[in-house]
Amino acid sequence: MLLQLLSISQVAAYTLINAHDVGNWVRPLYISRSLSSRHVMCTFEAVNIYNSQTPSAHVIISPIWQPSYVRISYYNGDDPTTRRTGSTRYTGHLQSNNEWSIDRMNIEISRDITHHNACVSIVLHEILHTRGLYHSDVPGSIMNLTIVIIGGEMIDTEYPVLNDDDIEGLSNINNY
Ligand SMILES: [Zn+2]
Repeated sequence: MLLQLLSISQVAAYTLINAHDVGNWVRPLYISRSLSSRHVMCTFEAVNIYNSQTPSAHVIISPIWQPSYVRISYYNGDDPTTRRTGSTRYTGHLQSNNEWSIDRMNIEISRDITHHNACVSIVLHEILHTRGLYHSDVPGSIMNLTIVIIGGEMIDTEYPVLNDDDIEGLSNINNY
């Protein structure tokens, strides 16, 4: 069953997704072997940015996949937004206490992302989703990422950094 990205609380500008479950621990990231070396490299950089700007609960990249890990792979569907950028999917089940438990997290990115900065930005944005953040209305935050496409061509972004709003969001997740 697919979970909708539910906003359970509004704190500052960012929004937390099901922080009760997601924020308890950082799931290791597994990179699908289908990813090109270009996209593997930008994934490593996104993880480095995350780890260098957050004092604890670092993301680990695992060479071995486990079902509880966050898997990053290419998107094969035809949603027009995801087809060009990325998305995070949660799969879970409703527990007897009526709370959602998340079983799987999948990051999917477009195989057509050619710009390096945009790739790092998109992966970093999706990593923050897997940590329990939803979108923000603060300009310049990673959770307010805007990818501009003109005439079918993606315009590259600035090289990403977490801004204060992103960091405040992460700091409000359990065991940050
Ligand atoms: Zn998003």
